[in-house]
Amino acid sequence: MRKALVIGNWKMNGLQARNDELVRSVASGVADEAFAGVDIGLCPPSVYLQTIGLQLAGTSVALGAQNMSQHASGAYTGEVSAEMLADVGCSLVILGHSERRALFNESDEDVAAKVKAALAAQLTPVVCVGETLQQREAGEAVSVVSEQVLQALSDLDVAMLEQVVVAYEPVWAIGTGLTASPEQAQEIHAALRKVLSGLSTDAADKVRILYGGSVNAANADALFAKPDIDGGLIGGASLKAEDFIAICRAAA
Ligand code: PEP
Repeated sequence: MRKALVIGNWKMNGLQARNDELVRSVASGVADEAFAGVDIGLCPPSVYLQTIGLQLAGTSVALGAQNMSQHASGAYTGEVSAEMLADVGCSLVILGHSERRALFNESDEDVAAKVKAALAAQLTPVVCVGETLQQREAGEAVSVVSEQVLQALSDLDVAMLEQVVVAYEPVWAIGTGLTASPEQAQEIHAALRKVLSGLSTDAADKVRILYGGSVNAANADALFAKPDIDGGLIGGASLKAEDFIAICRAAA
């Protein structure tokens, strides 16, 4: 079946000395048979990717980026391409995070273009979708996230689709301390898998759907016990080695 996956999204946090210690603690903390059942990734700020990639070489922890350009190269000041991320050792990239959609006006079209560019560079795109509190209260959660997934993925062929990871991150749960209950999250994950099966039943079985939104060491077990929750995308709790390792253990 699907192997669990836990990814830490550090966002714009951490300077070199702290990063060094965090990477060391996480890599050594998960270097144990007990973690064989979970894939683990860390997504530091882009300026530190190369250094942290060197630190992670030879460990079981994958390196990922938090964003990338949809363009291959050229006059895009300040941007970083998929090929550059692969070149410094990334195998994952978070795309369409709600902070990028809300603060940097990323559209579904941008996310779809980035997904294709990531796959072309052999990066695994981790495509984030999620509804706002207003949309949830209006009963629109399933339709909003379904549309986001379709917009991001419906152009892909089956072989490409199978390589994608989806992250359900309700906007109201990110960084707020509010978590979707395991039942609320499972309901959306099952709906997302149904949308994926409309594109390809084979791919729908293979695509890992992560939950993100105030996951911590105390609530991870109950979330990951749900059949369609294949792991987590972890923000705040990924900045503390002990908490992140506990969350990885819960998914293993
Ligand atoms: C995130 O930003 O992807 C996230 C899930 O953050 P947090 O865990 O802090 O809610």
